[in-house]
Amino acid sequence: MSEELQNLQQELAKCQKENEQKSEFLSMIAHQLRTPLTGIKWTLKMLVDGDLGNLNEEQRTIVRKGHESSEQLVELLQELILANQSEAWDFQYTLAQTPLEPLVDDIITEFLLEARSRNITIKTEHENEDTNIHTDQSKLRIVLQNLIENGIKYTPEGGNIIIHTSNDSSHIIITVSDNGIGIPNTDHEQIFSKFFRASNAESRHAHGTGLGLFTAKKIIQKLGGTITFTSKEGDGTVFTITLPKKSLHE
Ligand code: ADP
Repeated sequence: MSEELQNLQQELAKCQKENEQKSEFLSMIAHQLRTPLTGIKWTLKMLVDGDLGNLNEEQRTIVRKGHESSEQLVELLQELILANQSEAWDFQYTLAQTPLEPLVDDIITEFLLEARSRNITIKTEHENEDTNIHTDQSKLRIVLQNLIENGIKYTPEGGNIIIHTSNDSSHIIITVSDNGIGIPNTDHEQIFSKFFRASNAESRHAHGTGLGLFTAKKIIQKLGGTITFTSKEGDGTVFTITLPKKSLHE
């Protein structure tokens, strides 16, 4: 290989690394902003609902506007996170031994406030307690974040989300179930396509990018696994991830 070509390749690898670092930085900032903002949103909702004492009409109108603005900001942040993640599946994969159950429990804590503000319960069911998988922890985190986020987003107030983990000698299985709006049969085929949103989601929930499931599928494929779902409109949805305990790709 000529020296010039080698230099060019090194330069390209350096640029890619810088891009990945920038993207990870943006993602970290967006995640860190989301938690306190969700706290503010929840507090304003409690004020609007009268949980912290009665407000007069004028006060309630002002606080409601604040609550709506905070909701828009949380949505915008989520879109920023997703747009940023939608390229992350193509970044380098760093595999390491990862304890599965603590990872799942940790991801869930990020969503407890958001779920509580919508009166939705999130429950984990682990069939084992000490499962280790050889995988890229941050990529798997992105997938689970997207599925749980969707579960909350597409489940009406008072609903339930259950994250169940199990494994056999060579694979782990994670399911994320909700009893939300479900996915119409006619949309099943396209659900993992880039930018696709089902008709019932678009009409009920204006915000969304259609990037979350596309990204999730790409990552799971890269990790050597599969992601499938069953869903009935109005009844809820179950996403199932199957991953080899030892991922093949690096
Ligand atoms: P979005 O930003 O629109 O949520 P996703 O790629 O994450 O994008 O999901 C694509 C579409 O799949 C959503 O717009 C929605 O129609 C549907 N969907 C995903 N998860 C669920 C779910 N848990 N319940 C119902 N519909 C879902």
